[in-house]
Amino acid sequence: MKFSQLKLTTPYLDLDPIFYDEVEPTPLKNPFIISASRDAAKLLGVDEDIMKDEKLLEILNGTHKLEGSKTFSMCYAGHQFGYFVFRLGDGRAINLGKVNGQNLQLKGAGLTLYSRMGDGRAVLRSSIREYLMSEAMHGLGIETSRALALIGSDTEVARQTKEKAAIVLRLSPTWVRFGTFEYFNAPGKHDKLQQLADYVIDESFPHLKDVEGMYLKMYEEIVRNTAITIAKWQSVGFNHGVMNTDNMSIDGRTIDYGPFAFLDDYESGYVCNHTDVDGRYSFKNQPGIAHWNLQKLAVALSSIVNHERALKILEESFGATYETEYLSIMYKKMGMQESDEKDIELFKWMLGSLESATIDYTLFFRTLSTYDGDKKSILSLAVFQTPLLEWLDAYDERLKKEKRSSKERHTQMLSVNPKYILKNHILQEAIEKAQEHDFSMIEELLVVALAPFDEHKELEHLAKATPLKSKNIKLSCSS
Ligand code: AMP
Ligand code: MG
Repeated sequence: MKFSQLKLTTPYLDLDPIFYDEVEPTPLKNPFIISASRDAAKLLGVDEDIMKDEKLLEILNGTHKLEGSKTFSMCYAGHQFGYFVFRLGDGRAINLGKVNGQNLQLKGAGLTLYSRMGDGRAVLRSSIREYLMSEAMHGLGIETSRALALIGSDTEVARQTKEKAAIVLRLSPTWVRFGTFEYFNAPGKHDKLQQLADYVIDESFPHLKDVEGMYLKMYEEIVRNTAITIAKWQSVGFNHGVMNTDNMSIDGRTIDYGPFAFLDDYESGYVCNHTDVDGRYSFKNQPGIAHWNLQKLAVALSSIVNHERALKILEESFGATYETEYLSIMYKKMGMQESDEKDIELFKWMLGSLESATIDYTLFFRTLSTYDGDKKSILSLAVFQTPLLEWLDAYDERLKKEKRSSKERHTQMLSVNPKYILKNHILQEAIEKAQEHDFSMIEELLVVALAPFDEHKELEHLAKATPLKSKNIKLSCSS
């Protein structure tokens, strides 16, 4: 099957028109294909090379429609940096329809009813970041929206300077956000909210359909899914940067990649978003913010879900699910298969030591994955070695309790500690090349993004420590 032969459906348009704006994409000038993910194309049932599809460019630019496609933007509200905004909506995203359980969406496709002060566009820089990061998160085993393809153009848009506009075709099993429910939690709109809940159950939680107490159970699953995704973020050192409720997917997957960053050196209070002056969305705050957002979702659902019971579920399930998932991943990253009552202490001590040592988070774990007692291999990565010395002694002792061979331990650790992480300075290099019309690095990054645990001998330079001047920098929200 070719990409351009797909037949789409548009179940979202069966909802009341208050849910969406039927709008046509506005094409970009002189568009050109930059990259496409063959791996993401497989999700749609596409088995012919998507890069060779003669309609790919036109479909992304909105000048050719897939069969059955009807284009629309979705309406939603949201809490932005703690404050409720009554109406946001897709200000620059236009949906094409659905196939194989994936909703296709063009990001940067022009003005919609919800564009407010914006121009409906996305710049090349942020589109490259979203394209690669969607695929990288998937490669890391973290639930995420995917990216099928990326196009560039000669259309100019004004940001701090003039920049070129681009479009990413994104895929997700759902584009409903916590904020979509928040939009409908208002007098006179509660019947719509129930319609939305039924739609979400059909789309994302079909096993709950017609089950007693299904809306509460749906909330319970959202709590669980969200806790698990955030635990995975924390384990790889991912800082989302804009955890507003409109950027929280209803099925708990990661969406809307903006000023995100992976930690270079481990720094728990790191804030990737330059405009987040209070550090609301700092790395360490992410679990707490997810919990806060889930509270807001419980409020939004209160016309169909008993509020006390929802809050009880939140309190009982979020922290416990998060903790179990996070520790289970972290113990695997540390190569600890047996359980020992002091593991939690050793783990907390490790994080403290990493922070004081000033050491690259990813490199630390990758190097630990082949650690054989030669402390130099780890210590040489740190700016300050002393904090790690004693910890490594304790770690050596702990490893003695492992029953499997060190070879087995190493193999398992290498499968959970990525070698390749799309750090900001690497993405920035790819962006600068792309701005000069050299897109080769995007292809290289796509390779490591989709297989971050594997060795890629010819791409070894992409796994190096971050240069000092680029470590833990902050990014602007403008995109
Ligand atoms: P974000 O925090 O990037 O997810 O965006 C928050 C809101 O602003 C969403 O409703 C976006 O659709 C909207 N938005 C962001 N950038 C633009 C733009 N350039 N044009 C129109 N709307 C935008
Ligand atoms: Mg958003």
